[in-house]
Amino acid sequence: MTIIETETIGDAWLETARRILRDGADAVYDGEPTRELALVAIHVGAPDPDDATIARLADPEWLDWMRRNFHHVTQARGPVQEIPTADAHVELDRYVRDSRGRPVVRMSGTTHIETVRTARYIKHKAEEWLLAAGAKQIWGREPTLGLSGHQHQAGTARMSATAETGVTDKFGRVWGHDNLFVADGSLHVTNGGFNPVLTIMALGLRAGDHIARSV
Ligand SMILES: Cc1cc2nc3c(=O)[nH]c(=O)nc-3n(C[C@H](O)[C@H](O)[C@H](O)COP(=O)(O)OP(=O)(O)OC[C@H]3O[C@@H](n4cnc5c(N)ncnc54)[C@H](O)[C@@H]3O)c2cc1C
Repeated sequence: MTIIETETIGDAWLETARRILRDGADAVYDGEPTRELALVAIHVGAPDPDDATIARLADPEWLDWMRRNFHHVTQARGPVQEIPTADAHVELDRYVRDSRGRPVVRMSGTTHIETVRTARYIKHKAEEWLLAAGAKQIWGREPTLGLSGHQHQAGTARMSATAETGVTDKFGRVWGHDNLFVADGSLHVTNGGFNPVLTIMALGLRAGDHIARSV
């Protein structure tokens, strides 16, 4: 792991891109030479709101637009609980290897059409709210069947009120077993609108208390 220490965000990203290009290992994907990304952590000493590197590299017209409109732009967004599909996989890549020679992980397949439908509904609602609030121009990405490889995966061993509808009871005990407990993000029935770690920790503590009381 490389740690990059810089004073500004713009310098950090620029240096990160340079390091990836310079230190990334050669790899081959489907017969094509590629660069494997090096692991980099960024430490910005004193983030500068009027970052000189960004100012130097960004399109002056866009920068000018951002300066003029900064106080008039907002966003409306919402989380979509993705529905699992049988053909969406995380698998080991047949060709690309990491620096220790191990196959890297990759995702294949598509998301569920219902996930796209929900995302479209949220996009439509967001547009309605923005228009009602007086928005003059709206931008947005059209939801697609593409998989998202994001950081809040959850729900692979959902808790439930009955054995028929989920994997564990409300304390994370796997239905049909006395002494097998799950205590991680897989218990979540949905992920809610906020980051999940505190909920994961709270459920872990609850399961721990329950185990301690019941032994
Ligand atoms: C880049 C990033 C940023 C994030 N930012 C936030 C944030 O700001 N706020 C927030 O609330 N959440 C954030 N999250 C999400 C949060 O980190 C995860 O939801 C949470 O850590 C999941 O907890 P977990 O216990 O379910 O799984 P993990 O934390 O992944 O724990 C699983 C553990 O099991 C171990 N393990 C796996 N397989 C085996 C095995 N076979 N044998 C033994 N051990 C094994 C792993 O090594 C790991 O330690 C972020 C995630 C990422 C990736």
